[in-house]
Amino acid sequence: MPDGLVSTPLAGREIYLDNNATTKPLPEVIQAVSEAMNFGPTNPSSLHGAGQRARDALAQARAQTASIVGADESDVIFTSGATEANNIVLQSLLGRLTGYRLVTSVVEHSSIIETARFLEQRGIPVTLLPVDENGLISEQDLAEAIVPDQTLVSIQWANNETGVIQPIERFANVARGQGAIFHTDAVQAVGKIPISLSEMPVDLLSVSGHKLHGPMGVGALVGPALRHVSPLLYGGSQEKHLRAGTENVPGVVGLGRAVELRSARWREVAETTSGLRDGLESALASAGLVAAVNGAAAPRLPNTTNLQFAGVDGEALTIRLDQEGVRCSQSSACTNRKPEPSYVLRSMGLTEGEAWSSIRFGFSELNDAAEVDVAVETITRIHESLSQFALA
Ligand code: PMP
Repeated sequence: MPDGLVSTPLAGREIYLDNNATTKPLPEVIQAVSEAMNFGPTNPSSLHGAGQRARDALAQARAQTASIVGADESDVIFTSGATEANNIVLQSLLGRLTGYRLVTSVVEHSSIIETARFLEQRGIPVTLLPVDENGLISEQDLAEAIVPDQTLVSIQWANNETGVIQPIERFANVARGQGAIFHTDAVQAVGKIPISLSEMPVDLLSVSGHKLHGPMGVGALVGPALRHVSPLLYGGSQEKHLRAGTENVPGVVGLGRAVELRSARWREVAETTSGLRDGLESALASAGLVAAVNGAAAPRLPNTTNLQFAGVDGEALTIRLDQEGVRCSQSSACTNRKPEPSYVLRSMGLTEGEAWSSIRFGFSELNDAAEVDVAVETITRIHESLSQFALA
């Protein structure tokens, strides 16, 4: 170690507990992407044999992606990620279906909220449903906000900051009962809890590759209502004429491999990550550090916890943890550069101070119990020093 650097228990080691922001690609995924990049020149639209190789790879990834959400493989188009998938749904449907309104919620990801704002400025009526103190949307509020046969509903399956899971099957039934189109941003839920589109009336669902150890910049829009969707980008006829542009074959292959791996072991991953998550929660709670577990009374993703720390500034704690190699975050990676407390936590009724003192931890299959022990020790030590500072 160079002179002047202080050795810490984590020196040289990173404990990555920010898996809701992004995940490390698995070696098998990297290998699949690299093999696809070595296919040679292969444009899936070319009629020759080289093109066929790419078409086969896309078909396999389509089947893998359909399978993890229990959909038909003819109901999958690949996109540059969930942001694009969400934009296609909101912009194309509401741009096309005359008289339609959007019903969504205050806790959606920015790719929904900002698109809703954009549409509202263009005259589309938008309702943002509130959440209760547990982060849950009320079924009755949803039912009342729908105008029969003239509504697009978009509700996230699980929240990226708190892990709170919405009762999507019930919501989809409410929407279907009133002739609404139902979309769900399922980015955080796919591969963590069972999802089967064939068993519930979900019309469209967004997926992202990099939340489950796949590549960034690739995702999918899945569901039977693709037939109502129109493109955001005009050009070639790729992806059923819905997503022009030469396909990102290596990325799509990586997504396919990632979801294939996760499909085979989601239960095991859910058990491992919930064990680690519960271990962190209980160790910190019994040390008296936790004022509340945000959203704990609601069903939550197995890998996520959002902890309100007693008596310290969460930002200072996050920064000090980062200096010691423990990576976590204060809110969504897509919003946490804004100097504002989390809008998700504020909409659950937390005060600004409570929201600022909250930190999100997201576990993955690559974490282990030894990391939780080190994280608990580090958090406890830094919390103590920050508490003294706060009192001084
Ligand atoms: N929705 C949710 C709930 C997310 O967590 C994210 C990623 N932060 C997105 C959408 C956007 O996904 P992508 O990065 O693939 O555009």
